[in-house]
Amino acid sequence: MQCQTVLAGTECVFWSKKGCVAEGGSCQNVIEMCEGCDHIVDGTIGPVCVKAPAPAKKWSAGLCNFATHRKVEVKISEVKVNPIKASKRAGR
Ligand code: SF4
Repeated sequence: MQCQTVLAGTECVFWSKKGCVAEGGSCQNVIEMCEGCDHIVDGTIGPVCVKAPAPAKKWSAGLCNFATHRKVEVKISEVKVNPIKASKRAGR
């Protein structure tokens, strides 16, 4: 349904017949870690995220999985390789 408050007229999965069902009954503003992300839009309460109603929660366990400006860096040397499986792959 379409949001009627923060992003009026925008399709939102959190808007229901009872209103906004996101935690706290509304979107929350983006946090400092979100700066530079393509998912930030201006709402009636200021900058909000179109992907997540509670940006702080998206960052509580580390990197936000929707973030467009930051990616997980994996160091190859830290990746553990099962030598038996690697041997089988090399044989193909
Ligand atoms: S997608 Fe993640 S990083 Fe981007 S604005 Fe939303 S919460 Fe912030």
